[in-house]
Amino acid sequence: MLPLDPQADIGRRAWVACPNCDDRQGCDPCAAGRSCSTHWRYLLSNTGSLLHLQCPSCTHIWTHETHFGATRTFWQRLTTGLRPPG
Ligand SMILES: [Zn+2]
Ligand SMILES: [Zn+2]
Repeated sequence: MLPLDPQADIGRRAWVACPNCDDRQGCDPCAAGRSCSTHWRYLLSNTGSLLHLQCPSCTHIWTHETHFGATRTFWQRLTTGLRPPG
């Protein structure tokens, strides 16, 4: 297990599935696309639409390509867990 990155900040979270531990399996809030209080990732940093994330469950670090520009709306959606319809 890696140590938590010094940039890990509980005030900056993102609701993205972890490619390593897939801990959202069988979780109702996650399946419903809501901002689950258990399954979130530390948002370490970002470069454009590329997010640098760390999973608090397994400490896996990876980059996630969002294919979105880092617009204000995008960031609000990502960091509050709200998702557009559909
Ligand atoms: Zn994980
Ligand atoms: Zn969950």
